[in-house]
Amino acid sequence: MSSDDLLTTLSRTPIAKQFGLPTVPKLRRHSPGDPLLAGPVLVTSVGDGRFAKPITAFVEEQGQNAVTEPGEEKLHGVVVDLSGATTLADLAAAQQILSPAVKKLGPSGRLLLLGAEPSGASGAEAAAVAQSLEGLIRSIGKELRFGATANLLVVDGDAAPSAVDSSVRFFLSARSAYVDGQVVHVGVPVGPTLDPAEVDDPRGEERPLAGRVAVVTGAARGIGAAIADTLARDGASVVAVDVPAAGEGLARTANRIGGTALQLDITADDAPQRLLDHLAERHGGVDLVVHNAGITRDKLLANMTEDRWNSVLAVNLGAQLTINEALLAPGSPLRDAGRIVCVSSQSGIAGNRGQTNYASSKAGVIGMVRAMAPRFAERGATINAVAPGFIETEMTGRMPIGTREAGRRVNSLKQGGLPVDVAETIGWLGRAESGGLNGQVVRVCGQSMLGA
Ligand code: NAD
Repeated sequence: MSSDDLLTTLSRTPIAKQFGLPTVPKLRRHSPGDPLLAGPVLVTSVGDGRFAKPITAFVEEQGQNAVTEPGEEKLHGVVVDLSGATTLADLAAAQQILSPAVKKLGPSGRLLLLGAEPSGASGAEAAAVAQSLEGLIRSIGKELRFGATANLLVVDGDAAPSAVDSSVRFFLSARSAYVDGQVVHVGVPVGPTLDPAEVDDPRGEERPLAGRVAVVTGAARGIGAAIADTLARDGASVVAVDVPAAGEGLARTANRIGGTALQLDITADDAPQRLLDHLAERHGGVDLVVHNAGITRDKLLANMTEDRWNSVLAVNLGAQLTINEALLAPGSPLRDAGRIVCVSSQSGIAGNRGQTNYASSKAGVIGMVRAMAPRFAERGATINAVAPGFIETEMTGRMPIGTREAGRRVNSLKQGGLPVDVAETIGWLGRAESGGLNGQVVRVCGQSMLGA
């Protein structure tokens, strides 16, 4: 599926300017073999930041220059460690760094700030400065052009610098093409500490999920099929799950990626047991569970039937709850450093006309993730959600043209996302090294204005 609709194509022609058409930037996306960084990265800090040094080392390891001031060359990225910024003077210093730096940010550039948890700050000024970074990053996201993104990592004061490694890699790379204006909290990693040498070297940046078993529900088509493809590309053995009626598409997905197919209606009473038995018997356990299957049965609330309400709640929320309870039960096949990623939706955050059932289910997913995060942490595992905005799929392709055009444009990147953008975000949350991310909701929406 391409995001090149008519307006996008037109906006890239010479006559576009003449007619005042907005420019739709072409986003850089990850292809195997591509370097992680496409140019020099400005890395600096204000105050006593502990991240600038390891991030500088990481940029150099990737074969790029880490600079502390903008020069002549366009920058691939700008990283400012503000975790030690506690005063308004520190904030003013950040502005002095950022203003000239953003002028040098290249197409699909990456601006990443690291800040402290406001709740852990000592004193009102420090808490205010930490919180101010949210307003700062969301405004920068709206100002950047040419496919550049801006995101903020809020890091717990007790987390070691390595806790942010997988997030820095994701946000600086082309894998995060459609994740913009997000604030992600990074805590002390849960579960067993993984030796970085063991984690990074054998698997490498190209196959970060090698040796991991992943389940993807709703994998016969759409976003689920893209998730299965992406996790397999990154080295995971994938179990693709979908209803028997979607058997053909399911077999296609499984064959394409050398995975296995499991025909299962996730709302069936025995579904959690059948899924867990399959994982234990055929794969010896599971490392990553992606709850992607979802349905819509839109109607205005005044005309909503019990059946439309119940079926949407059952697939989108009820099944995730029962399967997660089964994964938490003693003796479940969920292994150490287990990762659960649930697909929510922008509708669950912003609400949507005609979608009381769908939006309730997707907001419910967010509530479930937050409530279950400490329980999964006790098992050395994490649970997070992704909330896609407008993604180019068959579903959005069937929308009336007016609604579709509006959906595509009301975001900072001026276009819809692709299924692979959701998949890449899940791949990042699914990495063993992402143990510092728990109970998070990451929107994959190009910084949509809806629900922001
Ligand atoms: P889709 O309809 O193309 O695919 C959903 C898949 O889930 C289908 O293959 C379907 O057979 C499967 N499924 C449905 N009920 C099932 C059940 N009971 N058991 C097992 N499998 C079942 O949808 P999509 O657009 O690819 O969306 C995937 C997920 O992303 C959904 O959770 C959806 O709500 C969410 N989402 C999509 C968008 C978008 O723009 N397309 C935006 C936000 C969120």
